[in-house]
Amino acid sequence: MTYFLSSLVLLFLSSYVTTAEWGLLSHFHLDPVFHIIVSVIALDLIAYSIHRLYHRVPFLWRFHRAHHSDLDIDATTSLRFHLGEVLITVGIKALAVALLGISPVGFLISETVTLGAGLFSHGNVKLPKNLEPRLRLAIVTPAMHWIHHSCRPAEHNTNLGAVFSGWDRLFGTYFMGVQQNQIKFGLDEYPAPEDVNIFRFYRIPFDPACRWIPIKGHASSGGVT
Ligand SMILES: [Zn+2]
Repeated sequence: MTYFLSSLVLLFLSSYVTTAEWGLLSHFHLDPVFHIIVSVIALDLIAYSIHRLYHRVPFLWRFHRAHHSDLDIDATTSLRFHLGEVLITVGIKALAVALLGISPVGFLISETVTLGAGLFSHGNVKLPKNLEPRLRLAIVTPAMHWIHHSCRPAEHNTNLGAVFSGWDRLFGTYFMGVQQNQIKFGLDEYPAPEDVNIFRFYRIPFDPACRWIPIKGHASSGGVT
């Protein structure tokens, strides 16, 4: 519910921004279709950058680790975020919408694509061996994103993309060294389902274990393709 309310607020903001002709894109007077394509790509790059910050900055990791605490990954995990993370992300996205001058249509299509990609990449799906690597050339697949939910920090600090897989390849966070069926999900601090139930989920950012700084290493790229 919070996700949809925050998207609605950003939609109104994009409408205001477009009417007031704010932002970078308003200066280029792009063809509407090209404006949408640029918006989807730019907002996906920003989503990648925000996600990277959530893993790099200890204060942000406090909130994002709630998302990583899920012990059983499926499509519902893509909607399982702490309220603190949702609010921080909305603030950063609002800034991006205003600075870039994203139109309501561009924003709406970007949100729909991102939501669909999130449901897909978290989904409990094992794609055919001849299809998955081809699809992964363009978009984030479950085999790629599930590694991001590994309990091992060197693995869950990789594969940070939301829609397009290219950002991870470009910025050195791409890793496919673990088979999909060998990944152990969650966080070592919360090994049991009762550790991550709804009551404890909202307390995760304030847990003393949060003093731990997330980036301790990086999985080397390569391995399974
Ligand atoms: Zn993450």
